[in-house]
Amino acid sequence: MKRALKQTAYLPRILTLLYHRVDSWEADPWGICVSIEKFEEQIRFLKNNFNIISSDDLIKQVTNHSITQQDICITFDDGYADNFTNAKPILDKYKCPATFFISTAFIGSVIPFWWEELQIIFLHSIELPRKLLLEINGEKHSYTFDENKLTEKQRLLQKNWKWYESPPTDRCEIFLKIWSQLSVLQVEAIETHIENLRKWAGSTNIDNSPLPMNDHQLSDLAKNSLFTIAMHTHTHPDLKQKEIAYQTGELLTCKKTLKEKYGVDSNCLAYPFGRYDKNTIKAVRTLGIDVSFTTRPTNIYANSKRSILGRYQVFDESSTSLKNRLKL
Ligand SMILES: [Zn+2]
Repeated sequence: MKRALKQTAYLPRILTLLYHRVDSWEADPWGICVSIEKFEEQIRFLKNNFNIISSDDLIKQVTNHSITQQDICITFDDGYADNFTNAKPILDKYKCPATFFISTAFIGSVIPFWWEELQIIFLHSIELPRKLLLEINGEKHSYTFDENKLTEKQRLLQKNWKWYESPPTDRCEIFLKIWSQLSVLQVEAIETHIENLRKWAGSTNIDNSPLPMNDHQLSDLAKNSLFTIAMHTHTHPDLKQKEIAYQTGELLTCKKTLKEKYGVDSNCLAYPFGRYDKNTIKAVRTLGIDVSFTTRPTNIYANSKRSILGRYQVFDESSTSLKNRLKL
């Protein structure tokens, strides 16, 4: 057993890295923000020490079962505008290939992704009403906050908090609860809830909040031979436990939009929230999608299953931390 494990560690493999945002912000409960400085340090390190391959190369190697060395593939999820304004210049500078998984419904939107707005409401608002009554899927929820004003001490606790740690304030706890209740719904229902929460919170400041890319930015990336545009569904639903027709529709609308609006023919997918089920795998096979990525932190080997390839999330960390953490 020990010997088998040892051998696996030295098998040729691809490490796929997962980024979301290249920017800094007030709070980052999901650990998805990498500062511009850290991002440049990471890319410089990766480019100087490894062969960075495109997702097209990855598809070729995986479908031919011919992974021959230890390569790196860089990916971004969701389609944030900072990918264009902050990440692209650095990727260009180091001639570093990257793949952008796009949820097509949000491109060009002038309001933040719903999960960012939820964060703005609960973690950034200076003042909130003390009581919140919510009805989600017929279930009533009632929340009471200890205080309505955010103190400096709470603000700092929230700024440093990550979702896997126990919530340091009642706002963090309630934010996380509502996030899990909303994330399984379909986008129309989620947006109605967000609109109600926005009204409940009073004026929320969405200036400087992260937006999705616009049409022009995505077209620009699509034309750059260094970059690949790929599928992240249309409205970014949690696909798990949804009917197969709905799942297929989400994938097809994304695929069609990428083709018709940006001239991109993609057969490469990343599951929103990394979540999928048996129906997702069926839909992926029916549509002839070559490879699909989860968010499970695993290496890709010649015999890895093409419909559930792993990726490693990259944090706001130094290149040394990245190197040690991923045993590069
Ligand atoms: Zn996503």
